[in-house]
Amino acid sequence: MNYDAMMPRDPFADDPNDPASFLDPEEPAPPLENDERAAIVEDLRLVRECQAKLTPRGMRGILFLCEDCDEWHYYDWEIMAANMQATLDGKLAAVHEPSAEPDVHAYVPWDYALGYLDGMEAR
Ligand SMILES: [Zn+2]
Repeated sequence: MNYDAMMPRDPFADDPNDPASFLDPEEPAPPLENDERAAIVEDLRLVRECQAKLTPRGMRGILFLCEDCDEWHYYDWEIMAANMQATLDGKLAAVHEPSAEPDVHAYVPWDYALGYLDGMEAR
């Protein structure tokens, strides 16, 4: 979640003596710890697997209750993957917008998707 875009403009933004000017706003997010990175790489792999195996079964992505909005959000597999890839690339995940008028029946909780994959592999 990136709140910076919603903040009022910095009154010192064009002041070369701005005490905060050493903070480069274009600077990438702090590097990920190795275990964080490994977890995201694994999640990304799972999202791609979901995309390949669950899309043909009518599941287009993930739904979850967002703690920021207190509303349900619906993310296509592709958006999930893009967000994870952005995080791995050291960029802030840009996408927070839920899909416009999603077909809510085409989205499942993440745990359900993982359970479904497990079930498919067990056969
Ligand atoms: Zn939200």
